Amino acid sequence: MSEVTMDTLVSLCKRRGFVFQSSEIYGGLSSAWDYGPLGIALKKNIQEFWWKEMTRLHDNIVGIDAAIMMHPRVWEASGHVENFTDPLVDCKKCKMRFREDKIPEENAKNKICPECGGELTATRRFNLMFKTHIGPVEDDNNNIVYLRPETAQGIYVNFKNVVQNCRMKVPFGIAQVGKAFRNEIVTKNFIFRTCEFEQMEMQYFVQPEDDMKWFEYWRGERWNYYKKMGIRENKLRWHQHGPDELAHYAKCAYDIEYEFPMGFQELEGVHNRTDYDLTRHTQYSGKDQSYLEEGTNRKFIPYIIETSAGLTRNVLMVLSDAYEEQQVAEGDTRVVLHFHPNIAPIKLAVFPLVKKDGLAELASDIEHNLRDEFATYYDQSGAIGRRYRRQDEVGTPYCITVDYQTKEDNTVTLRFRDSMEQVRVKIDEIPAFIRKADKEYKRV
Ligand code: ATP
Repeated sequence: MSEVTMDTLVSLCKRRGFVFQSSEIYGGLSSAWDYGPLGIALKKNIQEFWWKEMTRLHDNIVGIDAAIMMHPRVWEASGHVENFTDPLVDCKKCKMRFREDKIPEENAKNKICPECGGELTATRRFNLMFKTHIGPVEDDNNNIVYLRPETAQGIYVNFKNVVQNCRMKVPFGIAQVGKAFRNEIVTKNFIFRTCEFEQMEMQYFVQPEDDMKWFEYWRGERWNYYKKMGIRENKLRWHQHGPDELAHYAKCAYDIEYEFPMGFQELEGVHNRTDYDLTRHTQYSGKDQSYLEEGTNRKFIPYIIETSAGLTRNVLMVLSDAYEEQQVAEGDTRVVLHFHPNIAPIKLAVFPLVKKDGLAELASDIEHNLRDEFATYYDQSGAIGRRYRRQDEVGTPYCITVDYQTKEDNTVTLRFRDSMEQVRVKIDEIPAFIRKADKEYKRV
């Protein structure tokens, strides 16, 4: 099991401004969470890291940003209207509602409430899509729209646009990051499962005969991505979908799971979706979604290899993975978040050793000069040791202290978060020093 409990993470996140409960002053809304100043910085950095990895570092992957509300026929074609349901049961006594597949098997079989022992109702299928109406007339069945339950369909319906207008040739990929909504039964586990969340998806369009080659390629890429982000490899594992888990359209599906505080759970899916999606959109829209291959003149419906990760779930994973309570000396412990420097919300903090004798002004100048390139933070209050600990607790990889020697030789003390080692660095060499340290980072 993980070294950190969910309660510890929730409390750290609140105390340091990563994640707050939504509308807390009204008692909160279950399963909704707000990202505070450090949380949004962390989320954006993870998103940026993914975006760079999945688009810029590849020759043939482009991004899009599709609308959340789409034509309702999209969700008929995708199968969501018919199949995107959870089996739900209610307790007749305490009125709690459960997902039948998420309660212990014994309870499900004997229809006994896992909370109070009361009797459970028969199972009902419940569609997870949020439905609303567009326009002023609410009861008109013709103006239903859904809040998208996944970002993938926005990519599929733009396949032809990208082929025709962006000069992309199969194999190629389209990446997208955005909100998705599912009317889930959520009881606990913080931001792991929420009704409103964000996904980072990349759909890779391939020749049908090459599907398994690309499937294996993307499995490798996605595993390496987490390693590159500094995630401990022994906390990750593959889970292959067995025949009864496999979606009707999927040929082969693996999930990357991470060992969260509550145990191993899905982080991302890598799925071979075959030609299902584009075939269905051809049928439902009446617009041919096949691809004409240059050179061979062959016409085919591409297969799709999907990589689908939760961004908000990545935030929870990164926090769980980074957290450590460390004994630094007899009777002295510190909380440290070992974020990879590329995703840390604050890259470097600058402190004057004391406020007087011009040190505060000097430190503040240094901090201002570094702002353009790095996410910086200035702190002049409290003992220096306390300031270091405050930064350790939010995962700031480097702290710079300006002292009396700085006035003499233009050097500062640079302290590393993980090792707590300190070195002297010339002021004008700080940016190059940090760039190099980022590249060479290894968690201690
Ligand atoms: P689960 O079995 O946990 O409900 P899923 O298999 O339905 O998830 P996918 O549809 O494959 O999930 O979605 C891809 C990714 O989106 C998941 O791996 C997860 O990281 C993220 N995700 C899905 N549902 C949620 C949610 N309700 N809250 C947060 N993230 C989610």
